[in-house]
Amino acid sequence: MKKIVVLGAGIAGHTAALILKHKLGRNHQVIVVSPHDKYQWIPSNIWVGIGQMTAKQVSFPLEPVYRKKGIEFHQAKATAIYPEGTAENGSPFVAFEYTSESKTGQTGKVEYDFLINATGPKLNFAATEGLGPKGFTNSVCTYPHAEDSWKNLQISLEKMAKGEKQTFLIGTGHPTATCQGVAFEYALNVAFEISKRKLNEKAEIIWITNENEVGDFGMGGAFIKKGGYVTSTRVFAESILAEYGIRWITKAGVIKVEQGLAHYETLDGERHEQKFDFAMLIPSFAGTGLKAFDGSGEDITAKIFAPSGFMKVDADYTSRPYAEWSSADWPSTYQSPVYPNIFAAGIAFAVPHPISQPRTSKSGLAIFPTAPRTGMPSGVTGKVVALNIIDRIKNNHNESPHKASMARMGAACIISSGYGLRNGMAASMTVFPIVPDYKRFPDWGRDLNYTVGEPGLAGHWVKLLLHYLFIYKAKANPFWFLIPE
Ligand SMILES: Cc1cc2nc3c(=O)[nH]c(=O)nc-3n(C[C@H](O)[C@H](O)[C@H](O)COP(=O)(O)OP(=O)(O)OC[C@H]3O[C@@H](n4cnc5c(N)ncnc54)[C@H](O)[C@@H]3O)c2cc1C
Repeated sequence: MKKIVVLGAGIAGHTAALILKHKLGRNHQVIVVSPHDKYQWIPSNIWVGIGQMTAKQVSFPLEPVYRKKGIEFHQAKATAIYPEGTAENGSPFVAFEYTSESKTGQTGKVEYDFLINATGPKLNFAATEGLGPKGFTNSVCTYPHAEDSWKNLQISLEKMAKGEKQTFLIGTGHPTATCQGVAFEYALNVAFEISKRKLNEKAEIIWITNENEVGDFGMGGAFIKKGGYVTSTRVFAESILAEYGIRWITKAGVIKVEQGLAHYETLDGERHEQKFDFAMLIPSFAGTGLKAFDGSGEDITAKIFAPSGFMKVDADYTSRPYAEWSSADWPSTYQSPVYPNIFAAGIAFAVPHPISQPRTSKSGLAIFPTAPRTGMPSGVTGKVVALNIIDRIKNNHNESPHKASMARMGAACIISSGYGLRNGMAASMTVFPIVPDYKRFPDWGRDLNYTVGEPGLAGHWVKLLLHYLFIYKAKANPFWFLIPE
């Protein structure tokens, strides 16, 4: 019997755990270690943040699902990996701290034959002074954050209804933050709610971003086919912002936030301030802080993890200038080069470099988006890692025949821009591949047959359908495995 331990029950880890158990059955043990008792479908947090969905609609308890499927679940936070065991016990194991109320303060450990690190990102609010729910800005990164955002947004909406002007600042809260798509989606939804209440005249909505130009989305922008024409994501995104009455500030690295005031630097090295009444700014991401120790107890964290805290996998991490970046730098099996029985899926793996061109301001501040870490690649990498482990166990080999590089993978992104069965809106976009490849696609870097975009009501219906479909799948309801990642 083999033991597979999965750290994290998010999109990547939960996908991996369900597939592993489904394909390996009772003969092997699948164990999940994750700190929260609930699964959350994060993409729908946007709708919690505008009061169109409740926290209950985007989350459900994990324990009954894992009990039904025969997966062992520890509600706990992994703290350290011991890939060689210890001097007393040579079996690899993970140390953790329980997080459930009944076991608070208790620690535990679980041995493994294969380990999947799918711990996602640490929301690094601390990297920007004053940022986040404990500071002066809102967040929609978790459903409790999104619930608070909706409470605070209502205060502004009520003030506007009474005739008071309000300024909304939405975008990235760190000079190298990623997830522009999320903030963009929230900005459009806030604008939609304001417009629905006919309060446009009382609102100034500002999109603030570390992108060099609107529509970069951390993937260096793209050329897309829209209505038969080729257009840039810059034109696509700018026209959507203009239509929603949103002003934009680009090339901006937010460096500090105070009550109602954001300080930012632009690429020209100038410092600026922007007042706001309501702000939702995405923090930078870091690894979750897992440590690693070898058999003699020596700290080998720096050997296994990149300085960002994300786990090093089969990528080419050689530092090269932008002009020399290649799609071949990107990983495809997500296997640790140091310990072949350890994998990292979803956001937890370290990318070799950003996709957007790195830029530095005149004062030396790096201001550019780091690579986007979206849901579809997270699910796909969770699946690929699970399939390789299954293959190894069933066929008793050490190969990784299943591969999925972000330079070979497409991504679909539906940016909701208004909720409602009849008047909802969404900008649907697909890009292939995520990482542009000018060798294979010399003209545009991507295949324009699969890199398309279109705004409309249909996109909203698809996004809503995906919400129910992915929650159905995550609950492991009958035939869940037929629903793709
Ligand atoms: C508001 C919002 C909207 C989004 N919308 C979209 C969208 O429309 N489309 C899209 O493709 N992507 C979207 N994304 C991105 C998408 O949510 C992420 O790509 C995806 O959640 C990443 O999956 P993951 O499993 O790597 O990480 P996560 O989903 O963050 O899961 C990480 C898991 O690890 C657990 N964990 C953390 N630390 C530890 C530890 N020490 N030990 C054990 N477990 C740990 C966490 O509790 C969690 O269960 C959105 C993101 C946000 C914030």
